[in-house]
Amino acid sequence: MYCQRCNKSLLTRSEFAALCSQAGLEIDPKTGSHVSGTSGVRNRDAIRLIRRTDDLGLKCNHCGHQYCQKCASKMGSPYVFAGEVIGITCPNCKICLDYLE
Ligand SMILES: [Zn+2]
Ligand SMILES: [Zn+2]
Repeated sequence: MYCQRCNKSLLTRSEFAALCSQAGLEIDPKTGSHVSGTSGVRNRDAIRLIRRTDDLGLKCNHCGHQYCQKCASKMGSPYVFAGEVIGITCPNCKICLDYLE
């Protein structure tokens, strides 16, 4: 799976979760992407992982486009539901993108 725009290979949410637990980090259950518990973590794996949240893959279930988180947040818009931002919209068809599992 590759990002449609920058051709970077995409991380799924479960791959990312496995990498995080190896490095002793936790994923924010709300966003599924941000790493918490990082304040005391100084190892290199952890720092590399925090940068890799950009590589998390998002997919549009409507048009099938796939993007990395970095491109999606650059090209899409925040998806707001009940006054809260809960995701990013597909740059192609404006439907909320789902994380690749
Ligand atoms: Zn990309
Ligand atoms: Zn779409």
